[in-house]
Amino acid sequence: MLTNDQLSKWDQDHFFHPSTALGAHSRGEAQGMIIKTAEGCHITDRDGNRMLDAFAGLYCVNIGYGRQEVAEAIAEQARELAYYHSYVGNGTEASITLAKMVAERAPEGLNRVFFGQGGSDANETNIKLVWYYNNILGRPQKKKIISRWRGYHGSGLMSGSLTGLSLFHKKFDLPLDTVRHTTAPYYYQREDASQSEAEFSAQCAADLEALIEKEGADTIAAFIAEPVIGTGGIVPPPEGYWEAIQKVLKKHDILLIADEVITGFGRLGTMFGSPKYDMDPDIITIAKGLTSAYAPLSGSIVHDRVFEVLARGTDENGPLGHGWTYSAHPIGAAAGVANLKLLDSLGLVQNAGEVGPYLTEQMRKAFEGHDHVGDIRGVGMMTALELVSDRDTRAGFDPEKKLVPQIAAAMAKRGVIARAMPQADIVGYSPPLCLTREEADTIVGVSVEAVAEVLG
Ligand code: PLP
Repeated sequence: MLTNDQLSKWDQDHFFHPSTALGAHSRGEAQGMIIKTAEGCHITDRDGNRMLDAFAGLYCVNIGYGRQEVAEAIAEQARELAYYHSYVGNGTEASITLAKMVAERAPEGLNRVFFGQGGSDANETNIKLVWYYNNILGRPQKKKIISRWRGYHGSGLMSGSLTGLSLFHKKFDLPLDTVRHTTAPYYYQREDASQSEAEFSAQCAADLEALIEKEGADTIAAFIAEPVIGTGGIVPPPEGYWEAIQKVLKKHDILLIADEVITGFGRLGTMFGSPKYDMDPDIITIAKGLTSAYAPLSGSIVHDRVFEVLARGTDENGPLGHGWTYSAHPIGAAAGVANLKLLDSLGLVQNAGEVGPYLTEQMRKAFEGHDHVGDIRGVGMMTALELVSDRDTRAGFDPEKKLVPQIAAAMAKRGVIARAMPQADIVGYSPPLCLTREEADTIVGVSVEAVAEVLG
C-alpha cells in the first residue's frame, strides 16, 4: 500500500485542488485530509481517524455514506451500460425513470428535467434557457439576470457571476456585465437594527424594485436565488420575504429561478424548499441531494409555461443547440433512482424536519447568553452559529485572526467536521439527513468545547 508520505508528496506536486490556497498547499503548509471510507454520518481517514461529518461533504450526502443499495445500482448500471448519450432524444431506463421521479416530487407544473453534471453547469443551462425563451418571445433586450449578494450559484463564468461573494469574482474579471446583485435577506446583519423582519423584507423588495426600475424592467430576464442562502452564511429568509419579492417579479414579468442545489431533496424537512416558502419558480436548479453525491448529476426542472415556449422555439429554429456529453449519464441516473428510493423508504425528509430543528435548538440552549454568540439560526438540517466580537453592535472579529477556521480546526481535532463559512464569522452545519439526536448532541458538545478553546 502507498504510504501517506508518498501520497502527500504526489498531492503537493500534482493535484491542483479546487477552492484551495494553491501556494500553501503545494509547499505542504495546508494539507487536507485523505479520506478512505465512510458510513452513515462518519468518514474515516487513512490513519483510521473517524470523524462525524456535520457538513455532509459539501451539503450533498443527504442519505448518508456507505449505502450499499446505491453502490449496487451504480455497479449494475456500469456492468449493463456504462454510457450512452442523451442527445437527439436518446435515453436509458435509468435516466427516463429518474426524470419521472423528479417531476413527481417537484412542485406543480415543473415537469421537464434537463440533466447536467453539477450545480454550476445547471445554472449555466438555466441562463441560456432564459435567454432563448426571451428571444423566442421577441424581446431580445430582456437578458440581464439579478441575483443577491451572498447568494452562491457556482463558479463557472455565468454561475460565478451570479454568485454574490467577492472571493469568486476577485481577479477573475467577474461578474459578467449582464449580471446585477441586490440586497441579501440577511436580517441579523441589517443596517437598521430597529427594523422588524417584515420591515426588512419590505426593504429588500423595495431595493429589488429600485434596481429593476434603474435598469429598466424590459432589460431584466430573471431573478435567481436560493430559498435559504447556503454558502453565503446559512440564512433562512426573513418573514414575508418571498411574498414581497415575488410580487415585484410578477409585476415586471421577470422569471424566478429557485436554486435548490442545497435545499432540494429534503434538506429543509420538505422535498423541495420552494413550496415551504410559497415560491412559484419557473425553473428549479437541482444537484447534490439528487444523487446524494454518489455520482455527479444535476438538473434544471423547467415549468410547463417555459417549456412550451422553448418547444415552440425548436419547432421554428431546429434542435436546441445546448447539451453536454454527460447529460443524464446512466451511472448518475442509476445512482439518482436508488438515492430517491432510499430517501423515501428511510423517511429521511421527515428525519431532517425533526432532528435538524433539534440540533438548532440544542445549539441555542448550549450557547445561551454567550458573549460572542450573536445568532443561532437554522431550518431543517441546516444550522448556523454566528460569532461576533460585540453582541450589541453585531460587529465581527478581525478577519486576519481567522477565528472561525480556528474553531473548525478545534472541532476537527475533536472528531467533528463543521464548515467555516466565507466572508463572515459563521460556523455552518449541514449534516446528512440521517443524523440521530445522539449525533446532534455530539456536534453541539464539540462546538461548545471548540468555541471555548479558541475564544477562552
Ligand atoms: N448552487 C448552489 C445553491 C450551491 O450551493 C452550489 C454548490 O455548493 C452550486 C450551485 C454549484 O454546484 P457545483 O459545485 O456542483 O457546481
